[in-house]
Amino acid sequence: MKGLFYVLEILLPRTCLVCGERLIAAEKDICMHCLADMPLTYFWTLAHNPMADRFNHNIQKGMEEGGFEPYAYAAALFFYSEDTRYSNIPKSIKYQGALNAGTRFAAMLGQKIASTDHFRDVDIIIPVPLHWKRKWDRGYNQAEIIARGINSVMNVHVRTDLLVRRRRTQTQTKLNIEEKAANVSGSFQAKALAIPSTVRHILLVDDVFTTGSTLHACFVALRKVFPPSVRISVATLGFVGGA
Ligand SMILES: [Zn+2]
Repeated sequence: MKGLFYVLEILLPRTCLVCGERLIAAEKDICMHCLADMPLTYFWTLAHNPMADRFNHNIQKGMEEGGFEPYAYAAALFFYSEDTRYSNIPKSIKYQGALNAGTRFAAMLGQKIASTDHFRDVDIIIPVPLHWKRKWDRGYNQAEIIARGINSVMNVHVRTDLLVRRRRTQTQTKLNIEEKAANVSGSFQAKALAIPSTVRHILLVDDVFTTGSTLHACFVALRKVFPPSVRISVATLGFVGGA
């Protein structure tokens, strides 16, 4: 299945994922105009940013009084909005098997975050897992494609065995914030097996950050296994500003 997508990508005419125009030989996935206009977040340059605030707010809300959590860092490559055609990037990775493109956009994000102080010490990258049945149907996990793309720059370890999705959740798109949080809460389980004691900083990876409820559910599961001395940060391709 995954192999088939790679073959299709080579055979199909090369067009910009954002505007649909034919690409010239020097361009990959995106034309130079769309690349120049990409609404980058620059969150990787800021320890405190709207995405990190939203994620840390979720953490604090779910914590018992007096608990300690190191501040989680967060970065996305670009602002995601249904109103702009940049939303085609995550969609084409998730639904149309644009896996090479996914790897390259993720590598772009990897370049940005690997050069910053707050992400430099990341030693494990964990993609948000799909339920095995959904992964079976789709043939791949888009978050894993992105995690591996980031790692093509950071060169640490991608671990897909430490976190599992226990049950399938209904699709999140039609739910409000509270419903989304309830929908994914408790759906993930971290495995205590084979965890290197040298781990200091985990980077959780997904395709798009909306309310942050999915990444928070992953965070909660990982925190049951990793003590607060291990920082858990997040990175995604898209960030939904007004969510
Ligand atoms: Zn374009």
